[in-house]
Amino acid sequence: MSDLRIGLGTDLHRLEANLPLVIGGVGIPSPVGCQAHSDGDVLIHALIDALFGACGQSDIGDHFPPSDPQYKGISSLILLQRCLEIIRTEDFSIVNIDCVISLEQPKLFPHKQAIRENLAQHLGLGIDRIGVKAKTNEATDAIGQNLAIGAQVIVLLQKNS
Ligand code: MG
Repeated sequence: MSDLRIGLGTDLHRLEANLPLVIGGVGIPSPVGCQAHSDGDVLIHALIDALFGACGQSDIGDHFPPSDPQYKGISSLILLQRCLEIIRTEDFSIVNIDCVISLEQPKLFPHKQAIRENLAQHLGLGIDRIGVKAKTNEATDAIGQNLAIGAQVIVLLQKNS
């Protein structure tokens, strides 16, 4: 019987004017972007937490402390590569991932496929194993007021040994 492990990660960042908006490693044209110690890629941060959770590791903050100057402004894709090295060392492989991005503006519909393709490339997975959904929060809370962006990611890992 397969040894399957599930993991869940979430993240949220404040949005501010004139900062870059990077989602899943893809730069999105936007008047607002993420306030963060790294590049503020909520989707990759949530993905890393989901991957660490699924293989019984600690979280992104323990592995890559925001207080450590080496991570200031770092591309979250570099953190993802380090996370993947840990997972492979533990002899896990990814079965599939599913993601929800919560953002009011700009609309992500035109960018969802590029985000899927970029995740597939960096994870070494077929695109059919990557789900990316974009939601608004109907103008209700901080995300709905365009003050923040959120992401939720769920992953399924298989232990190979
Ligand atoms: Mg974060």
